[in-house]
Amino acid sequence: MPPISKSISSELSISVKKNKHKSSDIVDNLTSAPTQIWKSRISWRITLAVFMTILAVQAGILNITMNKFEQGRLSHLREIGRSAIAPLMDPGARDLLSSPMTDSGATRLLSTTKVNGMAIYSSQLDLIKTYGEPLTLIMLERENLSKTYRSFDGSSYELVFRANDLNRPYIIVARLDSSHISGELQAYVKDTILIMLLMSAFVTTVLMIAMGKWLLEPILFMRSNLVAASKNPENPKITPSPFDPSDEIGGAIQIAQKLIQQNADNISHIRSAAEDKIHKLAYYDTLTGLPNRTLFLQTLVENISAVGDGKVERFAVVTLDLDHFKDVNDSMGHNVGDAILRGVGKRLRTSMPESATVSRMSEDEFAITMPLSTDINSARDVGEKVINVIRAEPFKVFNEKFQVRASVGVSTFPDDGTDPDQVLKNADIALNRAKEEGRDTVKEYTEDFDNAVQQRFQMLRDLRDAMESDQLDLHYQPQLDLKTGKVIGAEALIRWWKPDNSKEGGVFIPPFEFIPVAEQSGLIVPIGEWVMRTACESAVGWKEKHGFDIRIAVNVSANQFSQSDICAFVQKTISETGIRPNHLELEVTESVFMADIDHTVQTLKELHAIGVELAIDDFGTGYSSLSYLRQFPIDRLKIDQSFIRNALNNPDDAAIARTIVSLGHSLNLKVIAEGVETKEHEIFLVKEECDEVQGYRYARPCPNEDFIKFVTGYNGKLGSFDK
Ligand code: C2E
Ligand code: CA
Ligand code: CA
Repeated sequence: MPPISKSISSELSISVKKNKHKSSDIVDNLTSAPTQIWKSRISWRITLAVFMTILAVQAGILNITMNKFEQGRLSHLREIGRSAIAPLMDPGARDLLSSPMTDSGATRLLSTTKVNGMAIYSSQLDLIKTYGEPLTLIMLERENLSKTYRSFDGSSYELVFRANDLNRPYIIVARLDSSHISGELQAYVKDTILIMLLMSAFVTTVLMIAMGKWLLEPILFMRSNLVAASKNPENPKITPSPFDPSDEIGGAIQIAQKLIQQNADNISHIRSAAEDKIHKLAYYDTLTGLPNRTLFLQTLVENISAVGDGKVERFAVVTLDLDHFKDVNDSMGHNVGDAILRGVGKRLRTSMPESATVSRMSEDEFAITMPLSTDINSARDVGEKVINVIRAEPFKVFNEKFQVRASVGVSTFPDDGTDPDQVLKNADIALNRAKEEGRDTVKEYTEDFDNAVQQRFQMLRDLRDAMESDQLDLHYQPQLDLKTGKVIGAEALIRWWKPDNSKEGGVFIPPFEFIPVAEQSGLIVPIGEWVMRTACESAVGWKEKHGFDIRIAVNVSANQFSQSDICAFVQKTISETGIRPNHLELEVTESVFMADIDHTVQTLKELHAIGVELAIDDFGTGYSSLSYLRQFPIDRLKIDQSFIRNALNNPDDAAIARTIVSLGHSLNLKVIAEGVETKEHEIFLVKEECDEVQGYRYARPCPNEDFIKFVTGYNGKLGSFDK
């Protein structure tokens, strides 16, 4: 089957003769219009119907006229018969059962006229005599003397002449030769049918021409318009209608064309609205209505070319990040957070000149770029303005006031970069520096920042090397039970010995220097996995080779939760190393609860189901609230070492340590104190009924062999650590 559109189009390249348009398809349409009409199905149906109707009517008429024609011929024949018979009858003959005709007369009659047979009856219907061919109507009845008989092949015709036909008192049945009538009738029918066909053809043709002109041409014209519109509804080529709009079809064409045009208008309207919407979604932030990162980068490109064209000398790029926005969002809910973001966006937009582009780059990060002029001639000025408008007054959300502060980084083109990415990146570096320096401040980009960044990159490269060349090691620090004095566990702490050309042959890099780099780069995942596996292997070795079966605590950073499937890895490590699940403890800081809370709850529950223990590290320094704690399957709180360090000379810290112990106990948790350096610390903790301790008083973190020596050499008495 050919494709519909193709067959329609080939069938319907139609237009109108009066059409004045010059385009080539219209010329095509003009030439093919009559042919198209004759090809059209509807034309053929109408033609056939008209033709058949005329034929049927004429056939009816023919039937009537044929009968009349035949009757006329038969009565003529009757007259011939009568005028042949009557003169042969004896004028004086009476109805005396003798023939009124002489035999010779009768024989002559039969041989010379159309009369081929005869039966003569008396007026009483007594048969007197028959002549010639035998008759069918031989048995006459008085009631039915008007009877006639025509032979089946039409060759003979029998009829009754009565006394008053003949002017003699006799009744005669005559058989006449009627064979000539069939021939005449045939010729008559032939002529009539020929005339009928000619008439039908003529009438049909005239009708078709009239219909083609007034009906089909306009319909085909409308159809070609509709087909063209269906193929290209948005931009239909509408040929002006040459048909009179005041008649029904011309009017319909006018309406159809109007609808086609309306449809086209609607489609292009919908399309342009959709394009606008897509443009908006692609280039604008839906929350604030400000340009998004993509549009901002485009604007930077435009600004740079404006500098290239000499229209502008320099322009500023300012990035800002709301301080502690995440806390607001988490504690007050997204509605409040969103309202603040909208407020900040609005305030920034209205405070900046027209020439500035203010955009929302991500969650709580905004950026501004604007050409510098004599009014505002440094990027720092823009940054100061930004920080001041945000500080100026609190944002009001649901009748609550929120004081918002921002950290701002600024850079200038062309001073601080040659391409859009670089100026933006440098503004971001300055922003990070502002955040590092305590937030709520403006930092201008300087090259030293770059050096710091370079150093971080170097650190990352070195850390990768360190993993490959076994420079990482684990040290172990014992954890003791305050009541029994026994070693009940150890914390695994990572160490990086980085070889160099110095006298010592290398240097220890402290974890606080490289752990953040590892976290930012994602390297914390493989490092953390190595730590967990090594720590578990050591713990299993202690039990199997040295006979002490204690728990090993491993530090897990928040990023490990979000960046890896920690549950699967823990499960795998347990089954591969053979450690008892409850002899592995994961230490997490409270920052882990600040991330995706649902994910954290889910992960902690899964870990708990595996059977590993969970401790909150550095407890007391973060955001943990009681309600949080109840949600999580925690086993142990680890009081941050700063509280222990100051417990003896700062009553607040002592109170905090005390509260953590009672809080932990009220929730059925064990409490361990770290950073226990002195006997006084220990006495304080015993008094507060803390459960476990860890610190320099007992042992510093040390390599595996030293740790084994420490545990096997220890007599189990806390007093043995007294100096
Ligand atoms: P943290 O988990 O709070 O570890 C305790 C830190 O306190 C350790 O420092 C330890 O050496 C030190 N410390 C122990 N007892 C005392 C004491 O009596 N007095 C004093 N002043 N300090 C004591 P370190 O080993 O430098 O670790 C620092 C931080 O690095 C750790 O803090 C932890 O957050 C992180 N870290 C260490 N190892 C790993 C690891 O394998 N994975 C992850 N993600 N982080 C680790
Ligand atoms: Ca720890
Ligand atoms: Ca700690």
